[in-house]
Amino acid sequence: MSSLSTTRLPRVVASPPLEPIIAKTSVAPRYSVSRRLFAWLGTFLGVTLPIAGLVMAIVLSVVWGFSWINVGLCLGMYLLTMTGITVGFHRLFTHRSFQTSRPVEFVLGVLGSMTFQGPLLDWVGRHRLHHQHSDGDGDPHSPHPHEDGLRGLLRGFWHAHIGWAFAPMPDGLDRYAGDLRRSRMLRLVNDLFPLWAILGLLIPAGLGWAFLGWQGAITGFVWGGLVRILLGHHVTWCVNSVCHLWGRKPYASGDESRNNALIGLLALGEGWHNNHHAFPSSARHGLRWWQVDFSYGVICLLHWCGLAWRVRLPSAHELRMRGEAPAAAPVAE
Ligand SMILES: [Zn+2]
Ligand SMILES: [Zn+2]
Repeated sequence: MSSLSTTRLPRVVASPPLEPIIAKTSVAPRYSVSRRLFAWLGTFLGVTLPIAGLVMAIVLSVVWGFSWINVGLCLGMYLLTMTGITVGFHRLFTHRSFQTSRPVEFVLGVLGSMTFQGPLLDWVGRHRLHHQHSDGDGDPHSPHPHEDGLRGLLRGFWHAHIGWAFAPMPDGLDRYAGDLRRSRMLRLVNDLFPLWAILGLLIPAGLGWAFLGWQGAITGFVWGGLVRILLGHHVTWCVNSVCHLWGRKPYASGDESRNNALIGLLALGEGWHNNHHAFPSSARHGLRWWQVDFSYGVICLLHWCGLAWRVRLPSAHELRMRGEAPAAAPVAE
């Protein structure tokens, strides 16, 4: 990552607080029973079907034989669709850490939707809520605070990792993505979530068919679809659970966020989570040269192609104010 010179990027834009983009209404709207039921059912299927997919993948590997093509489909689809989450849903739509063209916004929105992590606007709303109340009252998925001891730790971990997804949708969540809702194109991406999610299963099935025939269509569906979704879910949820419990905390972020190298690698740079909470609107999460950040590499590539601009990075002053010497950090001038 060190080869990506940040000095060629635009000047840093001061980190904006989230509050101005959260719509101010006096009463948080309550959601209907049918919307809550639909969300719960979607979560239940989204969590259980990929687990069934892993079992199918193992059984089919024994019955039909193992193929590296299926592993390639799984990893290829993982990189592609998770980029939609990390670069798209998270760094672009939630935090506005860079700007891009509408076609790129559309593609990133569709790719992120293929991960089965819920429609764009709900995802952004929940994540902005998390930053606003990080590890305090109102944080939808903090592992803190629960009772002391191992039992409390396990309960907190479970809630932050997966339990939160089954909790009722927080009232007023729509207010947190009001800025995105104003875009017709992003509303379309959001409303057609089931279509993109199914497309994320059909693409690897089609590729599997092209390589291995009809058996490949089934194994491509299972490996590049269901197993890939399972992997994406748990790696993303580890950012909520593991990265608020274990790791280093070099910056004063006002919460329990941590930098965790393993999740940093698996989650394409999102595991440098203390860096992220300290500088939420920074496009780069791995602030040191050795903190591998695949997603920032993608943003740099987009910038190099003229498809990303106003890429935000923390200034040397901001880094100093948060507590870690910026000498080796890739800051903007
Ligand atoms: Zn967090
Ligand atoms: Zn964030």
